[in-house]
Amino acid sequence: MSNWIARLRQPTENSRSRPKGNSRGPGLAIIPVFAFKTLCIGLRFTTTGESRKLRRAIKTQFTPQFSNGLTNVKLHFLGTTGYHPNNHRQTACLMLPELGVVLDAGTGMFRVRDLIQTDTLDIFLTHVHLDHCIGLTFLYDVLSGKKMSRVTVHVSADKISPIKDHLYSKPLFPVEPNFEFQPLTDQPVVLRDGSQLGSIPLEHPGGALGFRIDWPKRSLAYITDTTAHVESKYVDAITGVDTLIHECYFPDGWEDKAELTGHSCLTPVAQVAAKARAKRLLLVHVNPLDESESPLDLGSVADVFKEIEIASDQMVIDV
Ligand SMILES: [Zn+2]
Ligand SMILES: [Zn+2]
Repeated sequence: MSNWIARLRQPTENSRSRPKGNSRGPGLAIIPVFAFKTLCIGLRFTTTGESRKLRRAIKTQFTPQFSNGLTNVKLHFLGTTGYHPNNHRQTACLMLPELGVVLDAGTGMFRVRDLIQTDTLDIFLTHVHLDHCIGLTFLYDVLSGKKMSRVTVHVSADKISPIKDHLYSKPLFPVEPNFEFQPLTDQPVVLRDGSQLGSIPLEHPGGALGFRIDWPKRSLAYITDTTAHVESKYVDAITGVDTLIHECYFPDGWEDKAELTGHSCLTPVAQVAAKARAKRLLLVHVNPLDESESPLDLGSVADVFKEIEIASDQMVIDV
């Protein structure tokens, strides 16, 4: 056995301390408790005079649990291209370090290591095309020496066996996954600070999900690997979102290719952002073949949507 395989087979802090028999993970387990508490509070304070108490009590449910009272979190763009990395961009990966949340596990996943600041990691996969999941195999190094109590990969139920049987097949990667799986359902997942992450079905070859995170006063949506169209069903689900992260693989003029591959051209993405009344739009999953500073002509859609920017690797924004 080679040294690296032997090293990988050492139990990690995560696998040693992972609670046994907790197949649901804490996120979904919290939901019924939260719903029950909210219902009880609602029943208790139904008189008009006590409505303020009710509002305050519900607000308390969402109060961030951070001792320093953080009311906003940072979003790190760790991989902003699709298909394959290039000299400037890794493939799909975003991280909210304060929440221990990673969105997609493309090649940008190796950058998660330096940003870990929680003892849990929740990795949400939009789908399992390789540019969104290959980074799961980097986790032995990403987590090396880190004291994690839990690492969970949240993904559609139908995508779990492709990861286990193919990505982790012995000839491809000869060790077991060092994380647990949690199938995504139509119920939102409650994150560490009380915010909720919901899944949004997207049209894409093989199927994909978008994600929307809602805090009491702000929201974020991540929509990648789909063909933008104002009439698409997902637009309703992202309506009113503050920060919209949307894929834009192609410039205008490539509509046929976009339709064929399940990706987006610039103008329809801007139209979607406008229809959803997003406050700002950041473009990701841009074509890796174009390594220029301006792979998309944002000026051409200024009349459609103004607050638009192409995200770059290692960019950090407040959300
Ligand atoms: Zn992709
Ligand atoms: Zn894809």
